[in-house]
Amino acid sequence: MSLTPMEVRIQNVEEHIAAACRRSGRSRSDVQAIAVTKYVSLETTRLAMQLGLLHIGENRWQDVQPKWEALGASGVWHFIGHLQTNKVKDVIGKFEYIHSLDRLSLATELERQAAKRGIDRVQCLIQLNVSGEETKYGMAPDRLLEFAEQLREMPRLHVAGLMTMAPYEMEAEHTRPVFRALREWRDKLNASGILKEAAPHLSMGMSNDFEVAIEEGATMVRLGTVLVGKEITEEE
Ligand SMILES: *Cc1c(COP(=O)(O)O)cnc(C)c1O
Repeated sequence: MSLTPMEVRIQNVEEHIAAACRRSGRSRSDVQAIAVTKYVSLETTRLAMQLGLLHIGENRWQDVQPKWEALGASGVWHFIGHLQTNKVKDVIGKFEYIHSLDRLSLATELERQAAKRGIDRVQCLIQLNVSGEETKYGMAPDRLLEFAEQLREMPRLHVAGLMTMAPYEMEAEHTRPVFRALREWRDKLNASGILKEAAPHLSMGMSNDFEVAIEEGATMVRLGTVLVGKEITEEE
């Protein structure tokens, strides 16, 4: 029987993830592929989940809401986009991980809404702007430890790791220093002893650079085009 285009993509990505794990002496089970479905319909998202892609990443509540309402119960949802403070009430409790914690006002609102709803654990990744590009969201890395100190006052917020977006490069290899720096910041954060629990995760690597990210220690790769395809062109 011939494979559908989605099955071909899944198989191909799986081979590349496994190869990058082998090259870097890592275990395949240390890397979670997150299917980023922002460019595809509800039906394609459903299909992806039926094929076993249970970790779903989306970056805007307005777009993900119908998908979450239809499919929410069967997946693990990751909020990966810039999160406006006034949208916290919509997403809290629905996403297992918020990958885009990048400022104190957002942390304060997450804590406040969690308290209001009796949610005792909100797992976040702190987004760092490692490359320093002005167009990218994320906190300047040299503010990380001070920020982590401030989060200690918020009992419901748990820092699960760090996230970054590398600049788009024609040569994926050129992204390596960004991913390596994120790993070093995570190690520094854990060595500082500031966190209640060590933060294991590194959310880094997208369609064009996930193999390099895995070689540098990614535990979560966020894959849209290469894994679930692209049907919708995102408008800003
Ligand atoms: C869209 C998006 C992705 C996936 O992009 P692809 O290049 O299609 O894999 C990953 N991370 C974030 C934060 C995104 O917004």
